Amino acid sequence: MAYLCNLGNGQQVFIDNQDNQTIVTLTGTQAGQQQQSSSGFSTGKWTALPILYRNAGGFILRVESDRGPHYVQLQGSSLSAIATAPNLESAEVIAMQATETPPRATMEPMKPMEPIKPMEPIKPMKMGDMEMRMNPMEMRMGNMSMSMGESTPSYRQNFCPQCGAPVKENDRFCANCGDRLS
Ligand SMILES: [Zn+2]
Repeated sequence: MAYLCNLGNGQQVFIDNQDNQTIVTLTGTQAGQQQQSSSGFSTGKWTALPILYRNAGGFILRVESDRGPHYVQLQGSSLSAIATAPNLESAEVIAMQATETPPRATMEPMKPMEPIKPMEPIKPMKMGDMEMRMNPMEMRMGNMSMSMGESTPSYRQNFCPQCGAPVKENDRFCANCGDRLS
């Protein structure tokens, strides 16, 4: 069973469950031209009727399947899956009608999936007076800083307890006053 719904703005959405895919087809008339976009989402088999919501951002389709709930956002002519459940408390439910026929006899072939882009390297983050970098990991917060990984060993500066002159860590006597250093 498939479902058809008028979105009111000249657009129609057709929702079908084929095997483990939910096929969402948007048809609309824009500037006199018939437009159609169709996407398949791997949702599993429906276990309940899909529900279409209208909220401030557009339309959200909720599909309940044996794999749990899935959400698809409809914005203009674009369809995208949403990973996290949107807030639908104030959303309006749009009535759908059951249908057997797709909006067109010949469905457009599905758009090829875009190749997944490689992860971008993590950029330094800055939030207020907090700063964080990766490789080596370094975190700064106000005048505090913390670093991990390849940090250079800090040089311990010692001072002569007698005269206060700077002395090296392994010096036995102060170079300035000759006092014995412990
Ligand atoms: Zn000294």
